[in-house]
Amino acid sequence: MTIGDQAGGGRVLSGRGLGPAGSSICVCPKCDYKEAHKRGVPCNQISCPKCGTKMRGENC
Ligand SMILES: [Zn+2]
Repeated sequence: MTIGDQAGGGRVLSGRGLGPAGSSICVCPKCDYKEAHKRGVPCNQISCPKCGTKMRGENC
């Protein structure tokens, strides 16, 4: 816990977890690994770092 966290307080709560709006997450259908989606790179071109399966976009 740092004092600095309090500074931007209100906005952080609406952002929840990974990325803005939570609409850009890649998910591995096999092991359920989740990763922030990179803009311009389709999730299905990313391989899961854990099991090697192609990722899928959760809300793309
Ligand atoms: Zn996986």
